Amino acid sequence: MTEQSLQFLKNYINTPSPVGFESAGQKVWLNYITNYVDTTFTDAYGTAVGIINPEKNFKVVIEAHADEISWFVNYITSDGFIYLKRNGGVDHQIAPAKRVLIHGKKGIVKAVFGWPAIHTRGLNNDKEQLPKVENLWLDCGARTKAEVEKLGVHIGAVVTYEEGFDELAHDNIIGRAFDNRIGGFMIAEVARLLKQNKKSIPYSLYIVNAVQEEIGLRGAEMIARKIKPDIAIITDVTHDATTPLINKNIEGDCACGKGPVLTYGPAVHNKLLSVIESVGEKNKIPLQFHAVSRSTGTDTDSFAYANDGCPSVLISLPLRYMHTTVEMISKKDVEHTIRLMYESLLALSPKTNLSYF
Ligand SMILES: [Zn+2]
Repeated sequence: MTEQSLQFLKNYINTPSPVGFESAGQKVWLNYITNYVDTTFTDAYGTAVGIINPEKNFKVVIEAHADEISWFVNYITSDGFIYLKRNGGVDHQIAPAKRVLIHGKKGIVKAVFGWPAIHTRGLNNDKEQLPKVENLWLDCGARTKAEVEKLGVHIGAVVTYEEGFDELAHDNIIGRAFDNRIGGFMIAEVARLLKQNKKSIPYSLYIVNAVQEEIGLRGAEMIARKIKPDIAIITDVTHDATTPLINKNIEGDCACGKGPVLTYGPAVHNKLLSVIESVGEKNKIPLQFHAVSRSTGTDTDSFAYANDGCPSVLISLPLRYMHTTVEMISKKDVEHTIRLMYESLLALSPKTNLSYF
């Protein structure tokens, strides 16, 4: 990670990119990646793609998702309170007292999730309210519906949390929606390394930053059909299960700082997975493993089952506190995941045997 790439990461994470409205983040991403690819394009819903060697027939994708979970303005009361709907799996339990940005028609409007004072919540008679979507409201300083609307706030405006990038001790970084803009960062870094190290690859490489993952893997679905890749390497985040209140019997035993996570599951192509695993071993990259039942719940599913079946693999970055504003990751894992993707791309060719038989 260079000083310039770290600067890009901070800027990218601090740029809101809510599900369905990702274009501000996508512009930051395209602006960075354009230096390291031959050409770029975007599709109808805003998925952004950079291509190295666009002229080749065999197509390999490396992919991340660009969208971040957020809220929608749903109802404005006569006294100016704003009720919300989720846009993706945003966590209601962390909302009270958070500062937010409402993306209105006249630009950003600052607001807060209000919450009654501890003194007024009936603590002694067991009537304390817990935050739920239907009892959480925003206060933007307006005291009537007309005052709210005058600010450009409208039904359907998206709302994102304000908190952004920061650094903690021991190479840990925190941010809003590292899920999965850290993936966008990592695939961009892979492109940068290929370019700067003047590596030639015997296929077209599509670096894909897909929209709308958080509401059902939709952007990946669209772009997989458009590109029709021969191989797809997907990156997303996965749970560090070593923090309190998580059951390892269910979630497995992956941890931040111990390297990228490879997933086993039916959508993951097991021949391709073994190629990636041996690349990791050969290059002494620490690896962790994870199993899923039925689906991976990531864009891997969209690529695997698109068209007539595309060998796909999932490389995940371990992350603490997913879908909160303090998602935490290890810089070391980021470096190792970039390296694993980079070396895997150098190991792959149109001749790589991926036959199950
Ligand atoms: Zn997510």
